[in-house]
Amino acid sequence: MRDALRSLRARGLPLASAERQLAAVAAVDLSGTPHGGDFGRALSASGAEPLRPGAVEILQINLGKLCNMTCRHCHVDAGPDRGDEMMDRATVEACLAALDRIPAHTVDLTGGAPELNPNFRHLVDAAILRGRHVIDRCNLTVLLSGPQRDLPEWLAKRGVEIVASLPHWRRRGTDAQRGDGTFERSLEALRRLNAAGYGEGAPRRRLTLVANPVGAFLPANQAAMEREWKEGLKREHGISFDRLIVLSNMPISRFLEWLEASGNLAAYLELLATSFNPATLAGLMCRNTLSISWDGRVFDCDFNQMLELPARSAAGAPLHVRDLSPEALAGRAVVTRRHCFGCTAGAGSSCGGAIER
Ligand code: SF4
Ligand code: SF4
Repeated sequence: MRDALRSLRARGLPLASAERQLAAVAAVDLSGTPHGGDFGRALSASGAEPLRPGAVEILQINLGKLCNMTCRHCHVDAGPDRGDEMMDRATVEACLAALDRIPAHTVDLTGGAPELNPNFRHLVDAAILRGRHVIDRCNLTVLLSGPQRDLPEWLAKRGVEIVASLPHWRRRGTDAQRGDGTFERSLEALRRLNAAGYGEGAPRRRLTLVANPVGAFLPANQAAMEREWKEGLKREHGISFDRLIVLSNMPISRFLEWLEASGNLAAYLELLATSFNPATLAGLMCRNTLSISWDGRVFDCDFNQMLELPARSAAGAPLHVRDLSPEALAGRAVVTRRHCFGCTAGAGSSCGGAIER
């Protein structure tokens, strides 16, 4: 059980500032860990410094920070109070124009709750018209509210993949992170998605669930968890889904707040740094994805976006979606900091999930 949470910004906390978050993580003494807590050194030791991206395969568009929920682990600091940070139509059109210049095969829509942006359906249709695969990163409960209630069928008709976050397939873990009653509402949304044809193995109705640990530890084995979740959700609730991705919690924003408040920050960062696994480097999402913020700025990933660390051209200039082109991206290196250990710990953590082990 927990009290309703509000965003860091709504509570006026210093940790709402990206600068403050970076400083809090950088201040932890990690001198006893293999690379002294220096992500650049870990990359160098693996022959991967600077970190070079490959071709952009996925354009991840963050439609804004407005969300119907306020989850404890949220790396976006999203919530109902963030309606002033929403992608407008002109920036949506700039994203679509960028798609005409770069060869990304997938458009990955995220937020906040991307469905709450009034331009969401236009963007989905326009991306599909351009032959792109579209992913909706959905928090499930948003599908139960007023104007979104028809979305399961609407998205199914268009073959949009749903990537839905659910901290755990049991009530306690989910409600602890997302608020009381979230688990029941998530189940209701999953039933509606199943009824629309999602989660039964059809390639154009793919339903992926995303889980993350409910605490300061690394995710368990992804394949074993997927088996457990599939059996558990089917047996106890009659719900199906196609695959499970497990992600580590990143030491930023509200999860960072929880780490500090619970006294787990140093131990968690040590765990991430000592679990550095060079085998995860090839699959890092920053190597095939670009992340666009609600106001059109370009980042190497959604985490860097929340930490206000913009992607930079080879000449060091920050990039805007208006300027995106293969030429503008040529020769750049990914911007990394200590939080990147969250992506390289253990079996790794990226939008595609853990590596096989
Ligand atoms: S974790 Fe997702 S659902 Fe929860 S507040 Fe953040 S954006 Fe919203
Ligand atoms: S946080 Fe992860 S995805 Fe982002 S730049 Fe660092 S390693 Fe890459």
